[in-house]
Amino acid sequence: MRLAFLGVAGALPAAGHSNVSFVVTAGVATAGATALVDCSGTPAAALEQLGVCPTEIDSVILTHAHTDHLYALPSLMHAQLMLGRSARLTLAGEPAALQRARALLDAAGLLERAESFGIAWHDLSRSELRLAAREMGADGAGRSGDATAELCFRSFAVEHSVPTLGLLIEHRSVQNTTRICSSGDTRPCEAVAVNARGAALLIHEASGLADEESELNAAGHSSARQAAAAAAAAGVRQLQLVHLPPWGLNGGESRFLSEARTALARTALARAAFDGDVAIPQTGRWFDVS
Ligand SMILES: [Zn+2]
Repeated sequence: MRLAFLGVAGALPAAGHSNVSFVVTAGVATAGATALVDCSGTPAAALEQLGVCPTEIDSVILTHAHTDHLYALPSLMHAQLMLGRSARLTLAGEPAALQRARALLDAAGLLERAESFGIAWHDLSRSELRLAAREMGADGAGRSGDATAELCFRSFAVEHSVPTLGLLIEHRSVQNTTRICSSGDTRPCEAVAVNARGAALLIHEASGLADEESELNAAGHSSARQAAAAAAAAGVRQLQLVHLPPWGLNGGESRFLSEARTALARTALARAAFDGDVAIPQTGRWFDVS
């Protein structure tokens, strides 16, 4: 399974950084299992930069109804229409976020046009979403009938200022199962550590540092220290910090990283499990998760 970030900024975009959003795909030589989690910035341009044609996105998953997580959906759908998309698109996520997405597409005059290729609305809070990956033919097209793997998205409720979904993303193939857990926007929440157990990677929000935890938590967010505490409790191998404030992405990175590393170093379980480092993922770069 591979993933790449289109942005890692929190509610306020920063110079050179869009709001947090990432693309996840079953692998290099597969088609039919590529999803975008949250939709911000200029997604079509960011996807092209990663070598993904915007029409290859099979599903957009919206974790909650806050503007910074879904405002660019009309732009992505517009690009898909211009590129001649004909396959059905699944819009999955938290119910209020899906309702807002529908209103946004309608306001942009895109709802009827997008429904020409078919939109499947999927309430991810009620049932998991499975995307079958198919082996690529020599012509680059996915061959039908020979699914080699699947990406499965399951949600769990986290604690933010509005209903929000954390995600457990599983890549299942004959060889193995690999998991990524994403916290979404949340204050410290036990469900994250519970669901991240056994995951190779935890993507956790870090909207600030430990000295502002009371304000962060009151607003439904976490500090870098609290993100590390979730990673330690889950025993994951890697931690990526996202949803950072502008100063954390343009000069303050080392303060976020050292706060998280210090918290992890204090925990025996984390010391035993960790095989990577804490990172603020670079935008526009693929990461292999296995
Ligand atoms: Zn939010």
